[in-house]
Amino acid sequence: MKVLNFGSLNYDYVYSLDHILVPGETIASSKMEVFCGGKGLNQSIALARAGVSVFHAGMVGEDGETLLNMCKQNGVNTELIKVVPGKSGHTIIQVDKDGQNCILLYGGSNRCLTKEYVDEVLSHFEKGDLIVLQNEINCLDYIIDKAYEKEMTIVLNPSPFDDALKSCDLSKVSIFLLNEIEGEQITGGKDPEEILRTLQDKFPKAKIVLTLGSNGSVYQDQDCQYRQGIFKVKAVDTTAAGDTFTGYFIASILQEKPVPEALKLAAKASAIAVSREGAVPSIPTLDEVMTCSI
Ligand code: ADP
Repeated sequence: MKVLNFGSLNYDYVYSLDHILVPGETIASSKMEVFCGGKGLNQSIALARAGVSVFHAGMVGEDGETLLNMCKQNGVNTELIKVVPGKSGHTIIQVDKDGQNCILLYGGSNRCLTKEYVDEVLSHFEKGDLIVLQNEINCLDYIIDKAYEKEMTIVLNPSPFDDALKSCDLSKVSIFLLNEIEGEQITGGKDPEEILRTLQDKFPKAKIVLTLGSNGSVYQDQDCQYRQGIFKVKAVDTTAAGDTFTGYFIASILQEKPVPEALKLAAKASAIAVSREGAVPSIPTLDEVMTCSI
């Protein structure tokens, strides 16, 4: 069984600030660093660091060499990534003194996908293979339809939430992983219970993992619900907490671990990520997760 992550690759410009900017305000940043990121790249690296052999597909611009090298250095297969004219995607991330963040996203080459490219990528996969998706690339609806036609297992992190998701047939998704904000946006639900109930009513066959920041996470399917608290750490930077959680949860399911164990491992890995700066550098390896005593 092969694992494909079809998603974004970005450069992240991370600015440290006392507080996150409000409209009209100008403040000086005390520090700026550039990291490789994008929900797609983060989740591929989280999957790889959790022990999964993963193919990444997506597009980088002419400036994308560092992104490709970052994937390769982490054992992510880059053969299906296409280099196209123009700039790679990038984000501007503000991180405040409490570790909270807000993110401005510029799609760049992540939004240059074509149906022909999607068909080419998916021709390498077959029934029973697993595809992981987020919402930072174009053609998401087409990828979901084609992957479903091939009878691949579809995992969707519907993040960030926007209108593109409305044109996707989400009934084709097997596993949803989403945070509370995305849950509210998709369902209109006001609390975790309402979000889970509404999602499960809408997509009865789906498995749902709702992450709740410092309130932990909940798994739900038709038969059962499991809750997982957080591992307590000093929050330094929550960037990539959800991506780390996704990578480790999916890796554990692929390794046929029971759901409560998968939730626990994902919570521990994401707590480690929260205790460190940046996106990719904050994602722990499986060895670190197993040996860390938080
Ligand atoms: P996202 O990064 O997508 O917004 P969440 O904020 O829900 O996702 O975080 C994902 C997971 O990361 C949570 O379910 C939790 O396990 C872990 N996590 C988030 N914030 C903290 C924190 N302050 N301390 C420890 N773990 C955290």
